Amino acid sequence: MKKNEDKLETAFAAFCRNAGFRRTIQRRIIYELFYEAQSHLGMEDIMAKISLKNPELRQESIYRILNDFEREGYIRKVEVPGVKKYEYASEKHGHFLCSKCGRITDVDTSDIHLPSTLSGACDVSITFNGICPTCAKKNKK
Ligand SMILES: [Zn+2]
Ligand SMILES: [Zn+2]
Repeated sequence: MKKNEDKLETAFAAFCRNAGFRRTIQRRIIYELFYEAQSHLGMEDIMAKISLKNPELRQESIYRILNDFEREGYIRKVEVPGVKKYEYASEKHGHFLCSKCGRITDVDTSDIHLPSTLSGACDVSITFNGICPTCAKKNKK
């Protein structure tokens, strides 16, 4: 556990140094959220998690930090229509959106290839829509 803390601290310090950010507790909390979870977080998720640790952090400040982090390429907006969430900027992937619970799951799209005539395209945004396994199970009962 302690080791992970150290790793996070080192990563955060390097990130701030490169970006020219001051190391504030607010940035640290948000950095940690995405570092650990590597999942899809909306404003509500972020607010909920932050209020446990630092209730004073206001929504405007969070937006500003998210924008800064996005500009630095640490996180990005999840490219799912109608969804306002951020995710850790890992390798590009597609998403599966559950129409029942709204859960988003990452989908590996590296096997999908464009026809060679279109090979100049470099950006991809793929969303699959359906019912996630958890909701599908509930439906059966
Ligand atoms: Zn679901
Ligand atoms: Zn994702």
